[in-house]
Amino acid sequence: MSLNFVRSVVACLSLSTCMLMPSQAFAAPLSDEAAGAEAADFLSHYLQVDTTNPPGNEKLGAEYLAGLLKKEGIESEIIPTGTDSRACVYARLKGNGKRKGIVLLNHIDVVPAQAKDWKYPPFGGEIHDGEIWGRGALDMKSFGIAALEAMLQLKRKGVVLDRDIVFLGTPDEEVGGQHGAGWVKKNRPDLVDGCEFLLNEGAAIEADSSGKILYWGVDVAEKSVLWLKVTASGDASHGSMPVKDSAPNRLVHALNKLVDAPTELSILPVVQKYFTAVSATAPKELKSSYINLEAAAKDPKQVDLLMQDKLRAAMLRNTVSLTVLKAGYKTNVIPAEASAELDCRLLPGVKSEDFIAHLKGILADDSLKIEVLDWVTAMPSPENSDLFDAIKKVADEESKTNKTTPPLVVPVVVGWFTDSHWFRELGLIGYGFEPFENDPAHQASVHGKNERIPLSVLTKGVYRLQQILLNLSQ
Ligand SMILES: [Zn+2]
Repeated sequence: MSLNFVRSVVACLSLSTCMLMPSQAFAAPLSDEAAGAEAADFLSHYLQVDTTNPPGNEKLGAEYLAGLLKKEGIESEIIPTGTDSRACVYARLKGNGKRKGIVLLNHIDVVPAQAKDWKYPPFGGEIHDGEIWGRGALDMKSFGIAALEAMLQLKRKGVVLDRDIVFLGTPDEEVGGQHGAGWVKKNRPDLVDGCEFLLNEGAAIEADSSGKILYWGVDVAEKSVLWLKVTASGDASHGSMPVKDSAPNRLVHALNKLVDAPTELSILPVVQKYFTAVSATAPKELKSSYINLEAAAKDPKQVDLLMQDKLRAAMLRNTVSLTVLKAGYKTNVIPAEASAELDCRLLPGVKSEDFIAHLKGILADDSLKIEVLDWVTAMPSPENSDLFDAIKKVADEESKTNKTTPPLVVPVVVGWFTDSHWFRELGLIGYGFEPFENDPAHQASVHGKNERIPLSVLTKGVYRLQQILLNLSQ
């Protein structure tokens, strides 16, 4: 795209009168640059719809998106998910049915924002210095708008698609998805009938602080979530007469063993592939460890170094975080009960019962009660698929245009979880891939303050997504 064009869009959108004009309908296809500008206008308005979860109020966002689709003659359905204020928006661009469809999944809700901490209002959708600011600008209203804009452009161009493209905006992702994607899986799995692929948030195009692209990350698997409660019980007694094996003492002894347990690595083949691919980005002292993780796992010094990059370290092991501690109500009373909650994230393939047995061995106290508070199984998707190839092709084409070395397109196991698992459980091949380059400063604004996306990045994202869909559907 031409730099001049980006400057002119930025100039236009910087004027509040221009920015706040109602969106225009376009029947004819737009240039790639104009489609990016239109997406920026849509996103600016979408960010002004406050869908903070809780409570969500995602129906307002669903209605906004449905309105944009309607203007272009794309029918959509607003589907309540249990309460008046929460809803999905669903639309399907029909293909000729030669191949199975793809779902573009995006959550409508956002996490809370403290306006006083922000440079510009979090629900203003304002444009400053070539960036659109607002809660959801990255996570993940930008993806929702890019998906919608890509669909509009394909329709305007009259492209004959081999497969259906499904737009699905859902509520409630930020607090687990039970009232959103989970509800769809349980009550309306027909929305993804005839589909084999899902594209959602998860990983993105990683860039360094100078904006240089390092690699395109495609989340092919997420970790399983296992939330546990460990309880010690005993007799209550007076604080003036210590009891050696009181409930709090036994809990503290056991938890001490847990937090002091040595770090054990478990290297999945897909994870070794990722580390090998990104070894060029490793600190000098870790380069050889990235290429041979099994060897590094036997060297405590290398393990310590690997653990310093928390994001990548999460791919190398099952983790346990001690998050909630509860005991007592009065300084002079030894309580009868003490409990701790553990947030465990397990690599794909690890069974909950096996991990609990492993933990019991570490805690080494049979009197402790362990309860499962939540368990969400990770379902990995294969890394070889038409969708992965379609993403790779766009990365290669982009490097040809820019006369640069083709970026690496690498499978990633992410340490968090998204709504993808609900649809992987329905049998879809799901990838987390946002077509936007993300440098550390912008990444830090996700769930933080000053969340924003550069207009140029949004424009490129719309183009990339459109090309991925074209590669996949023609
Ligand atoms: Zn998100």
